[in-house]
Amino acid sequence: MKIQNYINGKFHDPIDNNWLDNYNPSNGQVYGHIPNSSSVDVENAYIAAKSAFPSWSQTTLDERSRILIKISELLESNLQHFAETESKDNGKPISLAKSVDIPRAANNFRFFGNAITQFASESHESIGHDAINYTLRQPMGVVGCISPWNLPLYLFTWKIAPAIAAGNCVVAKPSEITPMTAFLLGNICNEAGLPKGVLNIVHGLGSTTGQAIVEHPNIKAISFTGGTKTGIHIAKIAAPLFKKLSLELGGKNPNIIFSDCDYDEMLKTTVLASFSNQGQICLCGSRIFVEASIYKKFKIDFIEKVKQLKVGHPSNETTDVGALVSKQHLEKVLSYIEIAKKENGIVLCGGNKIVIKDYENGYYLAPTVIEINTNDCKINQEEVFGPVVTMMPFNTETEVLQMANAVKYGLSATIWTTNLKRTMRLTNQLQAGIIWVNTWMLRDLRTPFGGMKASGVGREGGFEALRFFTEAKNICIKY
Ligand code: NAD
Repeated sequence: MKIQNYINGKFHDPIDNNWLDNYNPSNGQVYGHIPNSSSVDVENAYIAAKSAFPSWSQTTLDERSRILIKISELLESNLQHFAETESKDNGKPISLAKSVDIPRAANNFRFFGNAITQFASESHESIGHDAINYTLRQPMGVVGCISPWNLPLYLFTWKIAPAIAAGNCVVAKPSEITPMTAFLLGNICNEAGLPKGVLNIVHGLGSTTGQAIVEHPNIKAISFTGGTKTGIHIAKIAAPLFKKLSLELGGKNPNIIFSDCDYDEMLKTTVLASFSNQGQICLCGSRIFVEASIYKKFKIDFIEKVKQLKVGHPSNETTDVGALVSKQHLEKVLSYIEIAKKENGIVLCGGNKIVIKDYENGYYLAPTVIEINTNDCKINQEEVFGPVVTMMPFNTETEVLQMANAVKYGLSATIWTTNLKRTMRLTNQLQAGIIWVNTWMLRDLRTPFGGMKASGVGREGGFEALRFFTEAKNICIKY
């Protein structure tokens, strides 16, 4: 199957007729071809977006909201098809695609369709000067949205929905590894009545298509989610062009467990925080720190639960852990397990590929738990982004806080404790953009989302996203 670019409401082959293979992670087979778009395709997408902007930016908020909510409803009514497509393209369990990825993609449109009707800007009365200042928040024009492969439609729409809600027109690129649901979105937008050119989707490699979006002199803002290395590269290009940048990057998140926690709830959630989506969520808690007094018990109980996880074909409803996204990624994750062993890590479970009958070439890896004795090692410092977690004991709050913060990343952290004072002390001092206490991955779309340090710059979510996709202009009137 060949997919096409979606430009000006229509589907097009890439101008250079340059195509990439698309692999099915469950069996390692090529099952489709996607455009490797050139800068000419990106320019065509830009021209379409630019032409649509004057009218879209003047479209009433009610009308924008109505269209976004219609897109949301259409995604919901096509949930099964979208979920099957996402699961096949990414390797994630169908149950996850059905319960998380596609509902959340639909919710992104509904949420920002509603949010834009509530978005307001400030006014400041300059008392004693007979003057008033007010802020206009105007759409920026044409903006670029670039997303990764781990939560394909979920993260793609997390950017697109606020961008168009705020009145911008968009040139967007999904990951070349998981382009399918983004391709399907084009038809949904047409059916919902989104005017042509408001959203344009170009497919291709980061180094060609993505780079052309970032380098485009008239694309005013880039919202990017992906690896830290790519983020650095993009920032270097965007800075001298004075583009607004939102960078949502990698993580190496601590999961800190105190002996006074609700043990059963912690255990159940820690399994999810470790291995959901094959551990390929930027928010997964890949470094588990356990208070020494419960370490032995936790080790036995956790390994027992992890061993019960069913690794299987993504389309099987009972699968807990599906296939990793690509052969290259599987090899990268395996190489980190080898590094950990050389660093004296002890593999407590997993560590090996899994062969599934009839799908022998699929990218399956057993959920892996590695016991380590220091935070100062590669396996605890670098992002693996797979079904691999480490665990080690700690004795004091000070010690665990130091280890939690001693990484270059600062995306999320989880704390398990019922001690309020400790919670307040730690949440104040942990270097992370999102901290969960006694839960994980509980999301409220109104909250600011993003990371500190090498995990990124800027915040998405709620009004933060609408502020990112608008230019603030202050007007001062003396009366
Ligand atoms: P990646 O950086 O390789 O690619 C992300 C996107 O950027 C893809 O669409 C890719 O084609 C594009 N790209 C690559 N090079 C580019 C360039 N030179 N110019 C423009 N675009 C370019 O990341 P990935 O492997 O797809 O995703 C995994 C990474 O994403 C992990 O590090 C993970 O932590 C991170 N991530 C972060 C968040 C977050 O919210 N912080 C969420 C999900 C994933």
